[in-house]
Amino acid sequence: MQKSIERIAGDSDGVSYEFPVLRLAGADKTAPSAYLQAALHAGELPGVVAIDALMPMLNKAEAEGRIRGNITIVPWANPIGRAQYHFGEHQGRFHLGTRTNFNRGFPLLAAPDARLLPDATFGGADQRLKSRLVQLSLGHDIVLDLHCDDEGLAYLYVHTSLWPGMADCAAAMGVDAVVLWSEDTDGTFEGASIMPYQNASADVAKFDRRVATTVEYRGILDVNGALAKSDAEGLYRLLVARGVISDTALPAPGPFKGVAAPLENIDMMPAPRGGAVLYDVKPGDRVTRGARLATIVHAPGEADGRTEVFAPQDGIILTRRSRRIIRSGEDLLKLVGDRKSADARSGTLED
Ligand SMILES: [Zn+2]
Repeated sequence: MQKSIERIAGDSDGVSYEFPVLRLAGADKTAPSAYLQAALHAGELPGVVAIDALMPMLNKAEAEGRIRGNITIVPWANPIGRAQYHFGEHQGRFHLGTRTNFNRGFPLLAAPDARLLPDATFGGADQRLKSRLVQLSLGHDIVLDLHCDDEGLAYLYVHTSLWPGMADCAAAMGVDAVVLWSEDTDGTFEGASIMPYQNASADVAKFDRRVATTVEYRGILDVNGALAKSDAEGLYRLLVARGVISDTALPAPGPFKGVAAPLENIDMMPAPRGGAVLYDVKPGDRVTRGARLATIVHAPGEADGRTEVFAPQDGIILTRRSRRIIRSGEDLLKLVGDRKSADARSGTLED
């Protein structure tokens, strides 16, 4: 394993950012290559500790000559967000200097060619970081961006062009659900990883071996040794299943048994009032139309001081908020409905 340090210039003299890149060289030039990054939203750490648990498995494979395709790993993809503390609280989702979400504003190239990247020299440190992450990842057959939700199941975002082709990956990783999307107007890292291939010729696009996904490893507090180990094993199974690593002892993944639904089936349930949230449901619960999802206590003890929120359709609870204070209009949870949501949203679900 080779380690190198990337440096991103800050926006004023004396400030720069660094992050490590780990590389394992594959022995077979024709084998699929893989790129993994974690903590682009800098406070989302389940993927960071999964990579920590994965590395000994990769080092062992390397020592035994079983690495077939090149592997590039960026365990801390966002040194800018990692350093952002605001009134004592970590703020890793938005760049404080611009209020831009760190997982938006990636360049969506017309073709998978790094020469098409816009010049980020004067674009701000966060743009330089995004440009560099695209450069590092571009050209890999497999691109995994490891995130987490507030509280949630393990699930993937996958572009429709890669489904059901990636069902083996979802099975290998052991995720509970897959959310399928088709348009990206905001420039997510995943969008930057798959949109350049949409108009490419078949020999470049290689959709039969391509993987691009945002991995949502449950909730923000689901950072522990047991989950890190099982997630690392899932990542390893994916790398073996797709031929990046050879391991004859590992069986091929079975069929994916989780939920796969289009993004338009998701109900986000904006809160009708602000207040304290009492949830009736948790991630993984199956609900039927009309079931109470939550009660918002906005005027404690008063006659009309509570507002109840009910399921608009049958479905499964994918996520809910990790905090219990809410403003009116903020989303209470993600309900993956059995059919299209009356409040269907396109593009990214959240700011
Ligand atoms: Zn995230």
